[in-house]
Amino acid sequence: MNWQEQLKNFVNTIDRLEKHINLTVEERSVLENNTTTWGTTPYFASLMDRNDPNCPIRKQVIPSSLEQQNRYGMDDYLVWKENRATEEKRPDSIARQYKDRVAFTVTQACGVYCRHCFRKELVVDGDLKLDFNVNEGLQWLAEHPEVRDVLITGGDPFLLGDEQLEFLLRKLRELPHLEMIRFGTRTPIVLPQRIDAGLKKVLGGYHRVPIWINTQCNHPKEITEETAKAVFDLLSCGVNVGNQAVLLKGINDEVDTFRELHQKLLSVRIKPYYVFYCEAAPGIDHFRTPVEKGAELIRDALRGHTTGLAQPMHVVATNIGKIPLMPDYYIKDKNGQEYCLQNHKGEKTTLPNVPA
Ligand SMILES: *Cc1c(COP(=O)(O)O)cnc(C)c1O
Ligand code: SF4
Repeated sequence: MNWQEQLKNFVNTIDRLEKHINLTVEERSVLENNTTTWGTTPYFASLMDRNDPNCPIRKQVIPSSLEQQNRYGMDDYLVWKENRATEEKRPDSIARQYKDRVAFTVTQACGVYCRHCFRKELVVDGDLKLDFNVNEGLQWLAEHPEVRDVLITGGDPFLLGDEQLEFLLRKLRELPHLEMIRFGTRTPIVLPQRIDAGLKKVLGGYHRVPIWINTQCNHPKEITEETAKAVFDLLSCGVNVGNQAVLLKGINDEVDTFRELHQKLLSVRIKPYYVFYCEAAPGIDHFRTPVEKGAELIRDALRGHTTGLAQPMHVVATNIGKIPLMPDYYIKDKNGQEYCLQNHKGEKTTLPNVPA
């Protein structure tokens, strides 16, 4: 199936889902009463475990009754997070937390409706209505020369057709102040068929303004030969590929899985960029760990335990920007004369300091 056929056969009915898995009584009853947007491509559905309801892919795709609970989430999360109620007036498509870079939302369609999505009020629940007018966003960008980096997001921008993406890139590259264009897309993971000859033509070729992509892969099971090929094709047309994982309870919050995920990403040439603390959107308490967990996992699974390239930064995304929360075990003592440092095995060493 090509990518258009994947979308035409989108797995968003019980009948289609049952071709891939045996539903539990609980899953079936939640789906029968579901009012949210859900589903994924037949490709991604085919990676689900047929009989295990705890399959990490099933849990990201199939709605759960736990979504009705909201003890630790925030109401109107996205309005708060993207500073929509405050500050300067902007089109709905532009989210801003920094002076020199913005997020530009161009669609709210996705190749998977992630149950843990921080934009779920918009993308999954449909409670929040925004107008993603591309021309309005382009106009705003043209009027803001202080913006040097634009992150095109959604939804999933690679669900747009080649002509629309070509138009978007051409318009953005006409803006002299833009130094780079980034895309956030899960397609290399959920719809690798999208990285086809047409898209390569749109993205490819040497250009003053480079393209960087970040995908979202949360579990080693999501990485296949198809993904490896899609990433290779992106790289071979000059597009860099990184990963932004979301730390998800019961999916990737265990040391061995977390390490395997980051090693396997590198094995298909994806550079781990961020691990996000699962955000406080409403109805996703069941995916959230304590805030400390991400730093603990980097300490126990990654830093010193595997290749330096496999190390993402753990960040908490907030309304005032992304804030790193990394392990802090390594500085045991410091003074004007020396630093006492500790490694991942608990061994200590001292280093003479240079007075300021
Ligand atoms: C994540 C994000 C960015 C990009 O942040 P980087 O740390 O540069 O990757 C920019 N703007 C908004 C609103 C964001 O949420
Ligand atoms: S692909 Fe991205 S925007 Fe779409 S549901 Fe998943 S996390 Fe949300």
